[in-house]
Formats: sequence, C-alpha cells, structure tokens
Amino acid sequence: MAEFLFTEAQNMFCLEVRRFGQKELLPGVRERARQASYPKELVKKIADVGLLGITIPAQYGGQGADAITLGIAMEESGRADSDACLFVILSALMNFVLGHGAEEVRQEWLPLIARGEKVGCLGLTEPEAGSDLAAIQATAVRDRNSYILNADKNSTTLGMQADVTVVMAKTNPKAGRRGISLFWFPSIFPE
Ligand SMILES: Cc1cc2nc3c(=O)[nH]c(=O)nc-3n(C[C@H](O)[C@H](O)[C@H](O)COP(=O)(O)OP(=O)(O)OC[C@H]3O[C@@H](n4cnc5c(N)ncnc54)[C@H](O)[C@@H]3O)c2cc1C
Repeated sequence: MAEFLFTEAQNMFCLEVRRFGQKELLPGVRERARQASYPKELVKKIADVGLLGITIPAQYGGQGADAITLGIAMEESGRADSDACLFVILSALMNFVLGHGAEEVRQEWLPLIARGEKVGCLGLTEPEAGSDLAAIQATAVRDRNSYILNADKNSTTLGMQADVTVVMAKTNPKAGRRGISLFWFPSIFPE
C-alpha cells in the first residue's frame, strides 16, 4: 500500500499555520462566531501570512502552492477558527473559477483576493436545488453585450460580506448540467 507522509517543508508549514492560528485566530473565536460579519482586520492578517493566496499563481501575488498545501492551510486555520478556514477555502475557489475566466478579470481580482482586500463567495444552492445542481432554476439570458441574470440563491457562505459572488445560472436550459455557466458578479451592498 502506498504510504503518504508530509515532506519536511509541509510539516514546517503545518506548524507555522498552527502557531499563527493559536496566536491570532483562537483569541476571541467564540465572540466572533456570534457576529454577523468577520473582522476585516483579521482577514487582512490571514492574508498577510499568505493564507489567502495559497493556490493563486505568483504572477497574481499568490504562493502558487499545490492542493496538499491548501489542505494544510485549511486544516490548521480551521483548527483555531472554522470561519477563518472559510476565507482560505473561498479564496482558493475564486482562483479555481477565475482559472477558467478572462485574463483581465484574473489580473484585476486575484491580487486583491490574495491580499485579503476582496472576498468572494459562491452562489450555487437554491431553495429547490442543493445536491442536484443540474436542477437550478437561475437563468442568464444574453441581451446584446450583457446578460440578464435571474436567480434566487440561498446558503451562500459569506454572502453578506463578500465583494463578489460567483453565480451559477443556466444559459442553455435544454442542455441540462452542460447548459450551466458561472457569472462573476460584484456585490452591490453598500459599505
Ligand atoms: C455550512 C454550509 C455552508 C454552505 N455554503 C454554501 C455556499 O457558500 N454556497 C452555496 O451555493 N451553497 C452552500 N451550502 C449549501 C450546500 O451546498 C447544500 O446544502 C448542499 O448542496 C445540499 O443541498 P440541500 O441542503 O438542498 O439538501 P438536498 O440536496 O435536498 O439533500 C437532502 C438530503 O438528501 C440526500 N440526497 C440528495 N440527493 C440524493 C440522491 N440522489 N441520492 C441519495 N441521497 C440524496 C442528501 O445527501 C441529504 O442528506 C452550504 C451548506 C452548508 C451546510
């Protein structure tokens, strides 16, 4: 059976994130859990130690690290504060989504996400569509140079705090799951 062990560098990274979690994330975790939004200063601290740019390529201000390193960052940040871990996951997911997007959007957003200045979230789930994402009702209809997006989403983690939502909507409802597109939708909440 294949044996899996962390490398020395991964072990060191694990300890570094654990120390950061103990020092910066654990204090006040219970109080923060009762708040509607997560403190921006703490998001910045998480970014400053590189945890929001883990998988973001270096050319956009990230670390360009692999999935195992991301896993360590998620596990060790989540050990101290599960909400902090959400920021780590979501920044990596934003990078994944933008990997399939336009270069100009990557250039604009990825450095901001890596620095913790902008936060993204995912709008996939709907009142009548969870596990079966092919059942989503959201539609996006082309209207000259733009799309008219009609969507009713719920369960969006950080939805009230994020600066951008990746919205899943059908652009070709007859094509089932293959007719679904992702929209990069900057939030319109007031500051
Ligand atoms: C903490 C948390 C954070 C979340 N964050 C986000 C987010 O950021 N963005 C977002 O879009 N959504 C988010 N979600 C929603 C999440 O993706 C959905 O809850 C999930 O997809 C399940 O959908 P549902 O709750 O509608 O349950 P359903 O899909 O209705 O499932 C209910 C139950 O039926 C079972 N089931 C479903 N289909 C089948 C099947 N074919 N065969 C056998 N069993 C089945 C499921 O396993 C489950 O036990 C979050 C959910 C949680 C709990």
